[in-house]
Amino acid sequence: MSDSLFSKTRNKKIAITDIAIKKIPYIEYKGLTELQNKALYDYARQLLVVSKESNNSNEVSITVELNDKGISDKYGLCLGSEHMVDILSDPRSYHIIHSCSSCAVVILHNHPSTQTLSLWDISFFIKYATIKIMAVVTNQGNIHYIMKKENYSFDSAKQLLLDIINEESGIDDKRQSYIASLRFLSLCSEVGLYYH
Ligand SMILES: [Zn+2]
Repeated sequence: MSDSLFSKTRNKKIAITDIAIKKIPYIEYKGLTELQNKALYDYARQLLVVSKESNNSNEVSITVELNDKGISDKYGLCLGSEHMVDILSDPRSYHIIHSCSSCAVVILHNHPSTQTLSLWDISFFIKYATIKIMAVVTNQGNIHYIMKKENYSFDSAKQLLLDIINEESGIDDKRQSYIASLRFLSLCSEVGLYYH
């Protein structure tokens, strides 16, 4: 794995600019309707606007529920720090994730660095069956997301994650942890996940 991935600039916090917000791509999430894709596009923009204007460009999460018509108007919003956002500390987000038994939840959060999903994000995503999509919007306006497909297997996903963590012989530092997350993302289609 190239060291350039872990250079100081890559880990450095990037302040959100209006250009980054304008640059956010319209994503056609696999299997979602146009209405849902549009709503998620708006939420991704709102995420960076809130982070820029109210949270010093630090992490913010938005938790929403998908339904037949599109996306429920109720959503959970949580403000975090530079390196993490405690999604469940927001009562609405907690409620959406825990009460949604037959529906699907989408969580969007921003990363002040330009990095993709962290090992923590992946573990959280696997732990809660209700979370269908977990997306990261970087402060530069790029989007990465992971999604559970029909053939998704919780047991296989959990095993893959454990195997990778064991292979890395510990994930004590940020660099090892990020290598492990990239490795998981590169193999995740084997356990019924889709990563883009
Ligand atoms: Zn994250």
